[in-house]
Amino acid sequence: MTVVGRRFLAASVCVVGTIAAAAAGPCQAQPSTPASIKLPLVYSTTPMTRNADLMLSASILSTSASEAGLAKVSPSLFRSTRKAARAARATKLVLFDAPVVFYFVGLNHEWGHQARATEYGMASELLFTGTPWSSKPFELYALEQMSDHLLAVPSVHGGGMTASRVLKDRAEAIMLRSDRVAPGSALAAIISSLDTPAYAQANLYSGRFTEEWQPGDVSTYVRDWYDRQARPGQTSLDDVRSHIRTRSALNFLDTALWSETIGLLSDYVWRGETDVRMRWLKVGGVGLLPSVRYEFSPRGPEYYVRTHYRALGAVGTAYGRWTERIGEDRQIGGGLSLSRWSTPRLVPSVTIDVWSQTKEGTGFRGEVAADFERWPGRRAALTVAVARSRLATSSGFPWPEAPTSTPA
Ligand SMILES: [Zn+2]
Repeated sequence: MTVVGRRFLAASVCVVGTIAAAAAGPCQAQPSTPASIKLPLVYSTTPMTRNADLMLSASILSTSASEAGLAKVSPSLFRSTRKAARAARATKLVLFDAPVVFYFVGLNHEWGHQARATEYGMASELLFTGTPWSSKPFELYALEQMSDHLLAVPSVHGGGMTASRVLKDRAEAIMLRSDRVAPGSALAAIISSLDTPAYAQANLYSGRFTEEWQPGDVSTYVRDWYDRQARPGQTSLDDVRSHIRTRSALNFLDTALWSETIGLLSDYVWRGETDVRMRWLKVGGVGLLPSVRYEFSPRGPEYYVRTHYRALGAVGTAYGRWTERIGEDRQIGGGLSLSRWSTPRLVPSVTIDVWSQTKEGTGFRGEVAADFERWPGRRAALTVAVARSRLATSSGFPWPEAPTSTPA
């Protein structure tokens, strides 16, 4: 959900309706007993959420439907633990599943740039120039000059990676409340998790960066970040590049990412199961999936230390976050989401994010949601979410208010 901010003590309310159809069919442990997969077929008032859910559905459907079709042709080849069956599943993963899901995650990434550009009143055009197996399946063109808003460059250039983060969060929200998920869901979460660290490692590679600087999502972000806080004689552009490249590798410290990867390879490829089990770290009776993130938010690189948790019938995510310093300025915050692990029909959830900015003051964003399981149909569920935010005054703040912030 995107929060619309105004300059003085603004509050906004957004409503999102999500219809999640539990599709019958290809995702069952036993071929003869139909099970269901959680498939978000979504209407959301927020483009990033809507795009992420659509691409997550496309990833789940393409992976599961192709697997079911092949298993129908040769059950012994696709559902057994024979050597040939494992090789066949690994081949399908490499040659079909990964490129197709990579394509959908990439499309979500490009739409993220477009969503952010639209927020700043800039028109853009996305061309479909290839297939999932092409080196360049999309080309995105700005049709206008970049907005001169101070946060336009980091917002628009970081928009693709923000969209990947939204997709990862949407996929993991399904995983938190299911013991097993479709391979396409796990694969979409893995690929979208790798978008930011992989992009940063490649884009900020020193030889390329200093000697033949190329515009790219992260390289442009870093240069803009450097220009915004430049203090002659203090740090060089290359120091900033190196600092950000090193810290972006923190995104690999993500137990959810590795749980999904192990599940995909072990359950789906090795054992021939049609879904993937989430593996939690158990501490006492509490299940945890901790992670560290380093994200390219419009206001500066931001650290997150967070964990998914499952305990006493509750499930959710908790985190603390803080931005890199910009002079004397820094934003710190934290958040918590809380939901029931499982109830027959109605699953309420609460999400809250609070923050404090050195000059801007404090703010919060809250969301209350309810999942009506098996409504309006036996295989469907409706999610209704209402969010409210309160942003502190911007007086004295060095940057103008951004049109939007904090997609969720
Ligand atoms: Zn991009």
